[in-house]
Amino acid sequence: MLPAMTPNRHAPLRRLALALLLAVPPAAVHAQAPPPAAPPAAPAAPDPAFARCLAGLRTAAGAQGVQAASFDRFTAGLAPDRSVLELLDAQPEFTTPIWDYLAALVDDERVADGRAMLARHADLLARIEARYGVDPATVVAVWGVESDYGRVFGKRPLLVSLATLSCEGRRQSFFRGEFIATLKLLQAGDIQAEGLTGSWAGAFGHTQFMPSTYARIAVDFDGDGRRDLVGNIPDALGSTANYLKQSGWRTGQPWGFEVQVPAGFDAAQVGRTNRRPLSDWAARGVRRHDGSPLVAGGLAADTRSALLLPAGREGPAFVVLRNYDAIYSYNAAESYALAIAFLAERLRGGQVPRAAWPTDDPGLSRAQRRELQTLLLARGHGIGEVDGMIGTNTRRAIQAEQRRLGLAPADGRAGRRILDALSREPGTAR
Ligand code: CA
Repeated sequence: MLPAMTPNRHAPLRRLALALLLAVPPAAVHAQAPPPAAPPAAPAAPDPAFARCLAGLRTAAGAQGVQAASFDRFTAGLAPDRSVLELLDAQPEFTTPIWDYLAALVDDERVADGRAMLARHADLLARIEARYGVDPATVVAVWGVESDYGRVFGKRPLLVSLATLSCEGRRQSFFRGEFIATLKLLQAGDIQAEGLTGSWAGAFGHTQFMPSTYARIAVDFDGDGRRDLVGNIPDALGSTANYLKQSGWRTGQPWGFEVQVPAGFDAAQVGRTNRRPLSDWAARGVRRHDGSPLVAGGLAADTRSALLLPAGREGPAFVVLRNYDAIYSYNAAESYALAIAFLAERLRGGQVPRAAWPTDDPGLSRAQRRELQTLLLARGHGIGEVDGMIGTNTRRAIQAEQRRLGLAPADGRAGRRILDALSREPGTAR
């Protein structure tokens, strides 16, 4: 049924969004920088080029079954929002180590929230597992990383962003497909146009699917006749499981496991796409983290696997299996895929990684990020609200404090060292 595991078409954009805002959790990436509120009732300035483009889209959409009346209804009054073009072309200003991502994406808060969701939706998740073969912890972990369990969907009007990106910028043909896919979902009544928002690049709903992925993968799990990944949790979680199943999920197999790599191991062998039989790694001296053999727990010696060293030779090591690739196809970034794998593991009561990340300045949970922001606000930095999202303003404020305190490098990174330094200062109530 599945056409040779075509990688998710939204992958390049998800990767781009990741590169753009490396400092913030992905849910926040989708939600970043809501456009300033438009002045009330200001008529859109006439924009002949945009109008011509929409007319062309109307024809193209018509050829794909979007009726003219539907097109006109859903695009009435549509005006471009060119701020999305800046995001399309933006370059990351700061780089963020993987342990910063994971500290925020797999923090105690998300684990506790996820366990609550596992309990609340236990029956639903059992039915999903019976149909798609994907375990509850994995489904809930994707939900937690994608939208913080339905809390963060993205704030940009979806049709505005997609129409703008369809008519201007360097990826117009890709976005035309997404725009028309959205219109088809609206016409079919799967989703409602009112209040439809998403990330700047068009991912939306509980599972942050791009519209074309939605069209291909979404399921009507609760059987009410609509595939609603915005307002319906059974549809959203069922669709997540369907996505993983379509991506080659192996029921009952783990995503992988943490391992120990022998001294002098050839690092050229590593990487997700360098796949070998499990027995091959075992022959090279790789063991599970607890020292037990790799080939165990019902896994065959020829199980396809790859070795990851996400922070290099000095950091934790993992052997990953096909299910890791399925998760990766959802997100197409190593840090995202590891976050989902690790969160799922913690939801099952496990702990990963057990080895330390190679840093003496660990990353911060969202609670610690809020604490740091509170300390920055108290020192007069105009960083806006305390939301745990480390954006440009917060980073600049951190940089200023690092310089003031003589901490090097003054790189604007939100880590344990600056948090500790600020909270130790006299007069600071922590
Ligand atoms: Ca439904």
